[in-house]
Amino acid sequence: MSVPDISRLDISRPDHCRQPGFVIAVPALSRGVANRSEGLRHPDRLIAQWSASRVLIVDDAGRVELDPTSGGLRTYQAPTLAGAPPPEAVLLGSVNRADHWAIRGEPAAGATLRELGPVLSDTDAGLLTTATALLNWHATAGFCPRCGAPSMPGPAGWSRVCAHGHEDFPRTDPAVIVLVHDGADAIVLARQPIWPPGRMSVLAGFVEAGESLEGTVVREVDEEIGVLVQDVTYLGSQPWPFPRSLMVGFAARADPAAPLRPREGEIEAAHWVDRSTIKRLLTKPDEGWTGADDIADDIDMILPGRVSIAHRMIQGWAEYC
Ligand SMILES: [Zn+2]
Repeated sequence: MSVPDISRLDISRPDHCRQPGFVIAVPALSRGVANRSEGLRHPDRLIAQWSASRVLIVDDAGRVELDPTSGGLRTYQAPTLAGAPPPEAVLLGSVNRADHWAIRGEPAAGATLRELGPVLSDTDAGLLTTATALLNWHATAGFCPRCGAPSMPGPAGWSRVCAHGHEDFPRTDPAVIVLVHDGADAIVLARQPIWPPGRMSVLAGFVEAGESLEGTVVREVDEEIGVLVQDVTYLGSQPWPFPRSLMVGFAARADPAAPLRPREGEIEAAHWVDRSTIKRLLTKPDEGWTGADDIADDIDMILPGRVSIAHRMIQGWAEYC
């Protein structure tokens, strides 16, 4: 291999800048603290605990109500809704020794996880992430994947069972998200043609059957921008239940001298962006946010929203050295 060791090119950087990785803050949807032990899901226990349980109502669009006093998720005392756990309710976990459930229903018509993720408490963010993931799964898993017969929710909503006894469990699709850097002061930002004008982000793609996460990183970056990466480093992960992904974040190093070749139809543009520009972009508010002046409005780019792990990855890199 004739890949140059670009870490040797910049001898002026202090030693700590040559560390192979950097840390990122815990992403907004990865902060759940509820006890979700499988032992909590025994049917007898669930019935015994029902009178002290709380229920979150989520409408068909994934919206929930907020408590006007606390600003957190509005939950209801379980006995005011039903005498026992309804079969379509899902157990999110236990918080302060109270079982917390979610159920589809009205009225909700508030906000969605995408909007609320960055502002909710760790507990509420975790509950709503789990509720969104589980209810999305039930909405599309009505038939047994083995025999095709209709299936019904199992205890606490953590499985579905058909008339032949086949059991199906909530699915999660792993995807990698990759911050490609040059080992010094630049990263690659790219955009898909379907994104809003100006939106740029790091690269991402689903893990294929029989593939490792590291293998996905190398393949996706090569497919999307035609560059071979090395030094693949794990950064963190975030559930992304839209409808059922787990985003696994990595950093990977590429030679900035290699030409970027965006894949036609999938990547509209890809550029190396320097650290000072990234730091200015990080001061921009999220799209649609109107609370303050845009202090970097001379740069015609918008980073992914603060709820995303992509934002945390870019932020972690920018503050690294
Ligand atoms: Zn079946």
